[in-house]
Amino acid sequence: MKSKVGIILGVILVVLLGYILMRPTAAKTIQVNNELCPVSGKAVNGSDTYVHKGKEYNLCSDECKQPLSEHPEQYLPE
Ligand SMILES: [Zn+2]
Repeated sequence: MKSKVGIILGVILVVLLGYILMRPTAAKTIQVNNELCPVSGKAVNGSDTYVHKGKEYNLCSDECKQPLSEHPEQYLPE
């Protein structure tokens, strides 16, 4: 009887472990908190931001969103 309980617990453990390992990484946005706009090099305005590959970059103005969305690799490290 005890061994059956052990097997069941083992199966539950494996399923739980598999679930934890297989679940997609949480979609969490990382705040870069940059003080200078990656596009213009000016000080950020504190309201306009752009999210790229899960990282949120601060921008100096709304106008920098377009070039950034078109050529992110040109302005951002990765
Ligand atoms: Zn800018």
